[in-house]
Amino acid sequence: MAGIYIHIPFCRHKCTYCDFVSFPDKVEYAEAYMACLYKEIKMRGEELKDYVFDTVYFGGGTPSYIPPKLILGAMNQIRKCFRLAKNAEITLELNPGTIGEEKVKTYRRAGINRFSIGLQTAIDEQLQDLGRIHSARDYVFATKLLRGENFSTDVMLGLKNQTKEDVKKTIELAAACGSSHISMYALTVEDGTPIYTDYLNGELPDSDEVAELYEYGRALLEEKGYARYEISNFAKKGYESKHNLNYWKRGEYIGFGISASSFMKGKRFTNTFSLDEYMKCIVSGFFPAVSSEEVSLADAKFEFVMLALRTAKGISFADYSTAFGSDFTEDFAEAIKKTERYLERTETGYKIKDEYLYVQNSVLMPFLETPVKE
Ligand code: SF4
Repeated sequence: MAGIYIHIPFCRHKCTYCDFVSFPDKVEYAEAYMACLYKEIKMRGEELKDYVFDTVYFGGGTPSYIPPKLILGAMNQIRKCFRLAKNAEITLELNPGTIGEEKVKTYRRAGINRFSIGLQTAIDEQLQDLGRIHSARDYVFATKLLRGENFSTDVMLGLKNQTKEDVKKTIELAAACGSSHISMYALTVEDGTPIYTDYLNGELPDSDEVAELYEYGRALLEEKGYARYEISNFAKKGYESKHNLNYWKRGEYIGFGISASSFMKGKRFTNTFSLDEYMKCIVSGFFPAVSSEEVSLADAKFEFVMLALRTAKGISFADYSTAFGSDFTEDFAEAIKKTERYLERTETGYKIKDEYLYVQNSVLMPFLETPVKE
């Protein structure tokens, strides 16, 4: 299985917590940028001609902010240069403040069959604090336009003054509007973002309070029929994100556009974060990668384990041995011994016990600290 990621780095306004590569004031470059992106896709065509891609994901930034014909153009180019699986999952991230009927029509023509909507919270004051350009009503409007479509909703935890009641309202709104999938993430506060001041002033919930909100949200989601299949991701049966599952299975993917990263043929590489440099490189016929590394066998094994243990199913011994030709319990014998009380033996391998999944980073330290048998 292999995926395609497309980065659209334009937004109408910069959110107060945003640390992504996105520009609030450069949308006039969208056409020129996308022309470069089409060229970058073409430049990879020959090299990847033997691959069949199962997923395409338009992320950002705000892909729904740029003219939709540019998304259609990207899909046409992908179909021209690569082989897409017949039932490929094609997702577009959508901001509820940037959507209209004509856009949705064009997305359908482009073959987009899954949308990921950034609601974050149903409480308008919290949306304003986050610098989001939409209200909860805009979300309802967007979901009406998408009636009959498959869509996911992002929910954020750890906001200023956020209560369990607020989390409940948000999840209930997303469920009532027809989300097939809900991603529930904790806000991460990066130094240098405007919201960092709130954090320094102690105005945001601390990690114990966020963990409580998470636990509350998880129980509510499960009650509403959304099963947790990864720490932050919940889906109705059959609606898990194939694109993300591929990341967690350590599958291959190719990224296009600025800051996009790729993992192909055992190598990880990332494109430049500068819009200018990206366009100059592509125009001159060079790939805009700024870093590239072969992944060592020990790192590959460690990555495989860390990614698999994020998921509710956990690690499969058979998948591990198919990937590396060795035995998971032998390679990680020491780490397994140290983390035994957090792990649960499943029919096919190991998973982190449900109650520890949210704090899995600390649970998994021994996997990082003990040497992997190569
Ligand atoms: S919409 Fe997303 S990418 Fe754009 S500024 Fe807000 S958080 Fe950043």
